[in-house]
Amino acid sequence: MTTELVLKKDEDRRLRAGHCWVYSNEIDTAKTPLKDLTPGDPVAIVSQRGQWLGWGYANPHSLICARLVSRDRAHPLDRSLIVHRLNIALGLRNRLYRYPCYRLVYGEADGLPGLVVDRYGDYVTVQITTAGMERNRDAIVEALQKVLKPAAILLRNDSSARTVEGLPLYVEVADGTLPDVVEVREGEQTFGVSLTEGQKTGWFFDQAANRDRLLKYVPEQRVLDVFSYVGGWGIRAASAGAAAVTCIDSSERALAAVAENAARNGVAERVTTERGDAFTVLKNLKAAGHRYDVIVLDPPAFIKRRKDLKEGQLAYRRLNEIALTLLDRDGVLVTASCSFHMAAEDLLRTAQQAARANDRSLQLLEQGQQGPDHPVHPAIPETAYIKAFFLRVLPTF
Ligand code: SAH
Repeated sequence: MTTELVLKKDEDRRLRAGHCWVYSNEIDTAKTPLKDLTPGDPVAIVSQRGQWLGWGYANPHSLICARLVSRDRAHPLDRSLIVHRLNIALGLRNRLYRYPCYRLVYGEADGLPGLVVDRYGDYVTVQITTAGMERNRDAIVEALQKVLKPAAILLRNDSSARTVEGLPLYVEVADGTLPDVVEVREGEQTFGVSLTEGQKTGWFFDQAANRDRLLKYVPEQRVLDVFSYVGGWGIRAASAGAAAVTCIDSSERALAAVAENAARNGVAERVTTERGDAFTVLKNLKAAGHRYDVIVLDPPAFIKRRKDLKEGQLAYRRLNEIALTLLDRDGVLVTASCSFHMAAEDLLRTAQQAARANDRSLQLLEQGQQGPDHPVHPAIPETAYIKAFFLRVLPTF
């Protein structure tokens, strides 16, 4: 029989409001043998008074000691539930995307906490971040085979989040044959990426909608793509008619992929790369007298944990400030953050402070979040993390 996880009085409120996490201090440990559970064990979550809340899975060693997966007593977490949730997730993506390249499952927001699935056409990557989902690994692979019939399924289980759950890090092809380079289509462009060695699972799908937004600003413009990775923003900008694009990244591998992808899309003569620490490269470009009309700042998360908040905010401030010195009189700054802990209003304020420090004025033209293949769960703030502001930068008013 499945163990009952009994919550303390009133600790059912968050779950009733729609969230799916249970913290370890919310458990009535007198009634629940939490310590006797093995990471990943299925549990039936109930309130102090024994009222049904839902099926979930537990990890007694984690601060988030349980996640609710199904409120329907008839449907616990198993292969059939995963197939059902995959089909619901696929329904959204089929409606919104012309090409089968997107995040197919975005964890909690798609009703599958601890699971992320990215789709690159015929190839699929799986990221499992909790012991409860790891327990269902075979069911996940079978469910994907049933719903998508992919040519290969790669388990990209090397995210540091797994360490918190006591899970080993590994990358393994679970099914089929995976080529070294897989094509991902975004807009009218095609990019070659490595699913086994690329960052994240190979492509940053989360900024796709914001890259769409960028295109109207770039015809004839000199564009700087800072933290370019394999050139998502920059190469799409070049293809949309930018006069010249410079991609900056510290990774040699990423910049080699920028060059390949530029050639693949027929824009090699308008795309150049600069390798190095972005802060240093920006300073050098400024010293050399370079100016740009459009600058994209899409850095890695400077604030990974709340304790990094102050230092991270300072890094965003410095970055925006240096970038603004390189923007010509009437330029466009796209400033983004993927740090959950950097609130949208903080990022906008940071850009505004950076503008004042440079004696410039800003106009906010539009703002974006992560694309709809990373849906936000309104009751789970942690599911919203991407911010992108499109700002016109003028001489001061
Ligand atoms: N803009 C990319 C995603 C950026 S991911 C896209 O849309 O696909 C962050 C990138 O920043 C990585 O490619 C990483 O190699 C690079 N990076 C991290 N720290 C850096 C630094 N200090 N200077 C330059 N690049 C850095």
